[in-house]
Amino acid sequence: MDSILPILYLIASITFIIGIKMLGSPATARKGNLVAAFGMGLAIFGTIFLYKTSSGEHLGNLPLIFGGLIVGTVVGWIMAKRVKMTAMPQMVSFFNGMGGACAALISLIEEAHRDPSATHDPVHSLTIIAGLVIGSVSFSGSIIAFGKLAEKIKDLSFSGQQFLNILVLGGVAVLSVMFVLGSLSGLTFLLVLCALALAYGVLFVMPIGGADMPVVISLLNSFTGVAAACGGFLYDNMVMLIGGILVGSAGTILTIIMCKSMNRSLANVLFGGLMSAKAAATGGGKTATGSIREVSATDGAVLMAYAKQVVIVPGYGLAVAQAQHICHQLEHELEAKGVIVKYAVHPVAGRMPGHMNVLLAEADVSYDKLVEMEEINPEFATTDVVLVVGANDVVNPAAKTDPDSPIYGMPILDVEASRQVIVMKRSMKAGYAGIENELFYRPNTSMLFGDAKASLTALVNEVKAL
Ligand code: NDP
Repeated sequence: MDSILPILYLIASITFIIGIKMLGSPATARKGNLVAAFGMGLAIFGTIFLYKTSSGEHLGNLPLIFGGLIVGTVVGWIMAKRVKMTAMPQMVSFFNGMGGACAALISLIEEAHRDPSATHDPVHSLTIIAGLVIGSVSFSGSIIAFGKLAEKIKDLSFSGQQFLNILVLGGVAVLSVMFVLGSLSGLTFLLVLCALALAYGVLFVMPIGGADMPVVISLLNSFTGVAAACGGFLYDNMVMLIGGILVGSAGTILTIIMCKSMNRSLANVLFGGLMSAKAAATGGGKTATGSIREVSATDGAVLMAYAKQVVIVPGYGLAVAQAQHICHQLEHELEAKGVIVKYAVHPVAGRMPGHMNVLLAEADVSYDKLVEMEEINPEFATTDVVLVVGANDVVNPAAKTDPDSPIYGMPILDVEASRQVIVMKRSMKAGYAGIENELFYRPNTSMLFGDAKASLTALVNEVKAL
């Protein structure tokens, strides 16, 4: 019986790797999630029923364990069933925070269980402190990110904030070193350190806003993975260690990809946060001026139906309007008229990494019609019509022209190079970064105001009628 648990852990670890691989494509992502969840179930129930302590006993406290499992399952199930698609990004952030909180709690509990007469083990202490600090930062940072994505918390910066951040982080580092060296110990001390790390998580995420949020979200994701891996190390539990390392490395890779997409270094995101918060609070750089042109659905349909190539740029508004299915229908109608239709997907469009890919996959848009930014940008010059559906920051030329803009330096989709741009949105309001968009005033841009779903439905009807 004793060899069964390691085999279950091995199977679970393999399912995590297969699951993550399958998450790489929208076609297999759903199954990949189930495969990994099955492995996680094996690991959990294997541990509950087969794990033996050093004295050879099985786990006790079964009513407590199952009570927790039932409460967690019911709450998670209800949240997942009720969440609107538009609230998915904040829910992902919330779940990520819960992972960090678990890792921090493990460290606190293990410290409370430590035998005070045992000799000091610096490696054990290092694992405890790393799980506690990284988990706490990830928890409080993710909760702030949750609030920001839900638009309940605004970016906040004040003078001396950088200094305060460095002071708190320095304090956490010094106390951690003292704990590892054995000069300080005990649960009360760890609770103080936990409070400091929680405060740092809040201070670190509060000023970061606008276009830098995707990087922070992926960074917090990698923190949770590393914190969970510390728990695996602490318990000498292979499957927890592998799960944590996989999440940690996936989050780190995503952070690097997001930094590249935003053309930012990580240090610039972390320490330049104050700048972007201030810029967004004051409305960003330049104020766009000039007059805008409106286009009707009838004229927009004519422009597109007689085009050679139409590129659709989906943005956060597509998710808000839940217009992905009707967008796919428009693609069909245009293709029936001989138009080449492509989708230009910006890496930070929407509110979570891969948001647009998930939405379009849900509507069965063929994956090979989705073109990445670097590939599509040179094509805009020969594109007849670009249809911007609820995107704003990712097509804002200020990123190239206005050094005072909080999104300056971020690569954007060069839609203004095309012959005609039709922008669908409800008003002239700003996007996530809170800044005006000069694109809307360009001579080759026309605005089609209204909810994206209603506007796309009108376009589909008009194209059909042609
Ligand atoms: P934006 O947030 O810049 O713009 C979305 C636009 O959609 C708004 O201007 C809004 O205008 C419009 N809109 C909203 N609802 C509707 C609707 N029902 N119908 C039609 N239009 C609608 O989105 P982008 O995708 O261009 O950019 C993403 C932004 O989010 C970037 O700044 C990015 O940094 C940030 N971000 C991205 C994350 C990620 O991981 N992808 C994570 C966190 C932040 P109006 O109100 O006038 O309709």
